[in-house]
Amino acid sequence: MPLGPDTVGRKLLWSIALPGLVVALLGVGHFWREARVAVQDATQVESLALAEFVASTFLLSQGPGAPAHGAVAEVLHSDTRLFRSVEDVRVLTLDGRVRWSRNPSEVGTSHPEAARLTRPGPETARSANGVTEVVRPLGGPECGSCHASGDIPGASVLQMRMTEPALHQQLTHVFGGALGSMALFAVALAGVIALSLHFNLTRPLRRLSSAMGRAAAGDLLVRADARGSDEISRLAGAFNQMLARLTAMKAEEIDTHRDLELVKEKLALKDELEERLRELSLLFDVTRSLNATLELDELLEAVTRLVIERLQIPEFSIMLLNAEGSLEVRQAWPEHRGAEGLVFALGEGACGRAAQTLKAVYLPDVTDPTSIFARRGLVVDAMHTGALLALPMVHAGSLLGVVNFQRPLVASFSAGEIELLTAVTDIAAAAVKNARLHAETVKLTMTDPLTGVPNRRHLFQRMELELARAQRFGTPLALLMVDVDHFKRLNDLAGHRVGDETLRRVCDILRAKVRKVDTLARYGGEEFVILLPQATKHDAVEVAEKLRRAVADTVVLTQPGLPGGHVTVSVGVAHYPTDTTSQEGLVDSADAALYCSKRTGRNRTTPFELGMEIHPGRERGPHAPPAEATAAVPPSGIAKA
Ligand code: GH3
Ligand code: MG
Ligand code: MG
Repeated sequence: MPLGPDTVGRKLLWSIALPGLVVALLGVGHFWREARVAVQDATQVESLALAEFVASTFLLSQGPGAPAHGAVAEVLHSDTRLFRSVEDVRVLTLDGRVRWSRNPSEVGTSHPEAARLTRPGPETARSANGVTEVVRPLGGPECGSCHASGDIPGASVLQMRMTEPALHQQLTHVFGGALGSMALFAVALAGVIALSLHFNLTRPLRRLSSAMGRAAAGDLLVRADARGSDEISRLAGAFNQMLARLTAMKAEEIDTHRDLELVKEKLALKDELEERLRELSLLFDVTRSLNATLELDELLEAVTRLVIERLQIPEFSIMLLNAEGSLEVRQAWPEHRGAEGLVFALGEGACGRAAQTLKAVYLPDVTDPTSIFARRGLVVDAMHTGALLALPMVHAGSLLGVVNFQRPLVASFSAGEIELLTAVTDIAAAAVKNARLHAETVKLTMTDPLTGVPNRRHLFQRMELELARAQRFGTPLALLMVDVDHFKRLNDLAGHRVGDETLRRVCDILRAKVRKVDTLARYGGEEFVILLPQATKHDAVEVAEKLRRAVADTVVLTQPGLPGGHVTVSVGVAHYPTDTTSQEGLVDSADAALYCSKRTGRNRTTPFELGMEIHPGRERGPHAPPAEATAAVPPSGIAKA
C-alpha cells in the first residue's frame, strides 16, 4: 500500500482531496441549481409560449362543419418534439367543468382543482416536481368566431401541464456525466497524489524516521538517506550531521568515562594504599610499643592500651596459657568487671575453640542461637551481645594464649580488620614470647643452678632494695653469712658429687627455715647469705642459731672417714643500723663475724661486734681453724669475740 495507515501522505491526501471533493460537489450542486432555475425559467417561457400558441389555435376559425378544435387536438396529439412534453391541456369553464380536454373522457366532468384554476387573474406559470403548469384566461371575443354567444359562457380558463422538457433532461444527462467524470477524475487525482506523496514524502520520511528510531535505540552509526535537495533530504543531512556530532561526543564521553574509571581506580588504589599505610603505621606503633618492654605485665597493659586507643575496640581481654594448660584471663577491658582471673579450658567457649584449633574464631552475633558455635555450646555466659573475635596467640607453632575482641554491634568486624587484628595478635604473641624468654633468662641469671636459690647478683640487688627500704622507713635489716665447715675436707674425702648434694641439702634446710620475706642466696662456693628485713639483731642471732642447729641436727653423712658424720655450718650476723649503715659494711661485718665463728671453733653463730673488722691482710678463703677454737663448741653456739 503506497500510503500506509496514519501516514503524512494519507493525512495530506485527505486534507487535499476531501475539501477538493466537497468544493467540487458544492460547485456542481450550485451550477445544477442555477441550471435548473434557468431550465425552469426557460420551460415556463416555453410553456407560456406554447399556451399562447394553443390559445391562438382556438382563435383560428375552423370553418363551419369542422370538428371543434380538431386542429388543436391534432396538433396536440401529434408526436412533434414541441408537444412531446405536454402532459395535459384542458379548458375549464369558470364553474369548474372541463369544457375541452386533450383527453376527451374528461370533458363535462368537474375538475378537482377548479377553485384554484378558475381564480380570476392574469396568466400564470409555475413549476413544481418537474412539472410546469400554465393557467391562462380564455374565452370571450376570441371564441366568438366559432361559438355562438349562448353556447359559450362569458369566460373560461386554459390549463396546460408540461413534464420536464428535453432541455431539462439534457441538462440532467450533462450533469450526470459531469459528476461521473468528476468522480473518476477525483479518484485518478487521488491516486496520482497518493503515489506522488508516497514517493516524494511518505517513503523518504519513513526512511528518515527509521534512521532516527535506530539512532534513538543507540545505533549512532546509522545514517539517513540525504540524496537530493528537497527539504526532507536537507533534514536528513542535518540529522546525519547531528548524528556525526553525537558520535563524536559519544566517543569523547567514552574516553572521558575511561579516564574517569582510571582516576577512580587510582583513587581506590590511593585509598587502599593509605589504608595499608595506616595499618602499617599502626603495626609499626604496635611493634615499637610492645617491644619497649620485656616485663609481661607492662606488656599486657600496653596491648590493652593499644587495642582501646588505636584500634577502638571497646571490649577486650587477653588470656595466657597457665601452668595447668588452661586459658587464664590476665588482662581485661573494661576493668574490674569480674573477667580478670577467669579460667577456660581448651575447647571451652569461642576462646577455647580458638586455642584448641589455633585458628581465629569469629562470631558475628554471639546471641544468634542458630550459629554453629551456639549449637556446639561454644558461646559462654561471659559474653553479652554483638560480635566476638577470638584470635589465638601462637609463636613457633605453640600456643601462648588467646586475645578476644568484642564490639556491641552485630557483625562489626570486617575481613580487613580481622586481618589487621591477626597481625596485631601475632606481634603481641612474639612480644609475650620475648617477655617470657626474658623472664626465664633473668631468672637463670639471678638463680644459682645447683641449689635453685638466688645467686650473688640477685642477692646484691635485693640487698640494695631492702637496705633502701630500711633506710626509707627506718626499719632494721639483718644479714646472716653461713659457711659450711670443713667443706674442702668433705669434698676431698667424699667427692664433689657428695659435696654438691650436701650443699643442696644444707640449702634446703635453710630455705625451709626462713620466712617468705627473707632472702636466701648462695654467696659463694659453700657460703650462703640470708637477708632478714625488719629483724632486730637479737632476732637475727636467734634465727642464725635456729638454722645452725637445724643443719647440724639434720645433715648426717655416713661417708667413712668423716668425723662424726655431721655437717655443720658457722654463721656471722651483721645488723643495720646497729653495726653498719652501708651495704658493703653489712657484708664485711657479717664476714668478720663469720670469721670469728671459724676462729672460735666453727659450728657456731657470732654476732658482729666492734673490733671484728677484717684484717687487711686476710683474704677470703678457707678459714684456718685455730687450735684453741676447735677444742670445744660453746653450748649456746654463740661465740663471743
Ligand atoms: P672452713 O671450715 O674454714 O670453711 O674450711 P673449708 O674447707 O670449708 O673452706 P675452704 O674455703 O678451704 O674450702 C671450700 C671448698 O669448697 C673449696 C671448694 O673446693 C669447695 N667448693 C666450692 N664450691 C663448691 C661446689 O659447688 N661444689 C663442691 N662440691 N665443692 C665446692
Ligand atoms: Mg668458705
Ligand atoms: Mg667452709
